[in-house]
Amino acid sequence: MSEEQPVAYEVRGSTAVVTMDRADYRNAQNSKMTYALDAAFQRAVDDDSVKVIVLGGSGKHFSAGHDIGTPGRDVEVHYDNEAIIWWDHVGRDGGDLRYAREMEVYLGMCRRWREIPKPTIAMVQGACIAGGLMLAFVCDLIVASDDAFFGDPVVRMGIPGVEYFAHPWVIGPRAAKEILFTGDRFSAQRAYEWGMVNRVVQRDSLEDETFAIAARIAEMPRFGLALTKRAVNQCEDAMGMRNGMDSVFGLHHFAHAHNAETGADSLGGMNAKSMKDSAKESAT
Ligand code: ZN
Repeated sequence: MSEEQPVAYEVRGSTAVVTMDRADYRNAQNSKMTYALDAAFQRAVDDDSVKVIVLGGSGKHFSAGHDIGTPGRDVEVHYDNEAIIWWDHVGRDGGDLRYAREMEVYLGMCRRWREIPKPTIAMVQGACIAGGLMLAFVCDLIVASDDAFFGDPVVRMGIPGVEYFAHPWVIGPRAAKEILFTGDRFSAQRAYEWGMVNRVVQRDSLEDETFAIAARIAEMPRFGLALTKRAVNQCEDAMGMRNGMDSVFGLHHFAHAHNAETGADSLGGMNAKSMKDSAKESAT
């Protein structure tokens, strides 16, 4: 059952395939999935026969985001921190809880996965929203099917974007403002035009196209790929991404705290259903 194993792992030739496997919940990411993803990535890094890692989602959607309401939501469950050195969030309250938890499972894990020394490809179909968008941002390449749609609607919660705030660097400041200000979904085609997505392919050829690119990359030397990935990442950070993300993480937590201080909870009273109901397709 998917609840026991939220992530599937297999190796096809020189490509490891890491698959989010909570299709019944549109692959909403709970902490169990986060740590299962981390274990799968570590396994792929440690396997010398693996040259490229593909990250996908089972079912109709890549990922609808962080788990903010399924029966498997596990905010209060203890997992050993893997991404940062900080005390565990369980048993704490207020900003102490949120800051510890989000540094570890959101910002910290995403940064850790961005530094995976092997090329990663997000293989995206259907919804890729908020926490799902973070995972796609983290990957080196994105291959999207023509039914894929993206979005970061958390401004509806009064929060200035998801925790891994790569938007201005990945899609440019103006597009970032548009998708954040409106909260609207944007299509794979628009994401392609903004330079966020490498290929838009037909839904039924998504796997074939993704694995063809992976096989092409796998012809390159392992260490050369690792250094090249690091080279581009370092330049992205020299463009301010890491520092910018750190400063925005403070705004993000200020928003959580403001919500908690003035309203019902840190999410501005929104839940998975109200977020889904308010989602609209972008007009263009
Ligand atoms: Zn947050």
